[in-house]
Amino acid sequence: MVDFIGIERIQELVARRGAARFIEELAAEIEADFLRWEAFDKSARHASHSPVGVIELMPASDGRLYAFKYVNGHPKNTAVGLLTVTAFGVLADVDTGYPLLLSELTLTTALRTAATSALAARRMARADSRVMAMVGNGAQSEFQIIAFHHMLGIRQVRLYDTDAAATEKLAANLALLRLPALEVVRCGSVAEAVRGADIVTTVTADKRNATILTAEMITPGMHLNAVGGDCPGKTELDRRILERADARVVVEFEPQSRIEGEIQQMPTDFGVTELTRVLSGQVPGRADAREVTIFDSVGFALEDFSALRYLMRIHQEERGSKPQVDLVPELNDPKNLFALLVPSPQSVSRPQEAAA
Ligand code: NAD
Repeated sequence: MVDFIGIERIQELVARRGAARFIEELAAEIEADFLRWEAFDKSARHASHSPVGVIELMPASDGRLYAFKYVNGHPKNTAVGLLTVTAFGVLADVDTGYPLLLSELTLTTALRTAATSALAARRMARADSRVMAMVGNGAQSEFQIIAFHHMLGIRQVRLYDTDAAATEKLAANLALLRLPALEVVRCGSVAEAVRGADIVTTVTADKRNATILTAEMITPGMHLNAVGGDCPGKTELDRRILERADARVVVEFEPQSRIEGEIQQMPTDFGVTELTRVLSGQVPGRADAREVTIFDSVGFALEDFSALRYLMRIHQEERGSKPQVDLVPELNDPKNLFALLVPSPQSVSRPQEAAA
């Protein structure tokens, strides 16, 4: 039997710790894996594009465990009542190739993306950052705010979305959450949201080269957490922001980010730093209080590897129903796969026997 985490189980696991603690624990797992960067078999994800979206496969392995995520991105989905991003994934044992865990990764993607954003910002944003603009108030937005409130001490969020209903939804969820000392300000434009912000998170969905942030909106010392641009032809930043002499750009995995990140707008020799070097302290996250720092996030398979391993551990440790699925045959004679189609007591073990 293979461990299974569906929506009910992930709700239970997150509720037991609270989303903030869950994100912080997940961030620690992700950081630990980025610090053993060389141990991983890494590749850019495989993307299958259509005019309205993308379906991607994201593998990673450390030689002991192997993980992959299936994830889509369809910005038009919300107009017909569907999520823009859904995902699921598998964690497997490299020695046998057997899957160990089949898990939902839709909620988990939002949690791990927020965790990775906060990890990067902890090294890149000014330590006195208290105000964050949140541009794009859809499915990912609450998770980003919880992470930045908890891990960076953000105390004011300035919300903007072209869809006013999305901003109302976010504000209502934040009111329910009652994050201590968090002031929520609704803004009428991107420029208004960004004005006075120490950190600007962009997490909009539109399959085009959008200019969510223009160069004029950026002031010295800002940290940009650019999350929404994550596909060829799908960006959020005016390239003049990247061209600023005082800008520092950090990416997750350079070969993938050259294809999918904000830096797809730049020449191939445009200088970037990989997050692992910042987390390990080889390169500082920011040089001084006036530098403009940019985390050009696209989402990397390593983050999902860390998330799946973390999920399996807490799934096994925690109370609860611990669901499993019969995804892989359990046979007395592994050469007799056909026995599953002509079952006999000798050739097929019953689930109780297999578990014993
Ligand atoms: P969503 O559709 O739920 O929300 C996106 C929001 O952006 C919507 O409310 C929409 O109205 C708003 N928006 C679109 N254009 C805008 C504009 N010009 N100005 C302001 N708001 C605008 O999607 P989501 O699940 O929140 O995902 C958002 C984006 O983040 C997607 O593009 C997704 O692919 C990306 N994403 C990236 C990562 C990563 O690791 N980097 C992870 C998850 C999602």
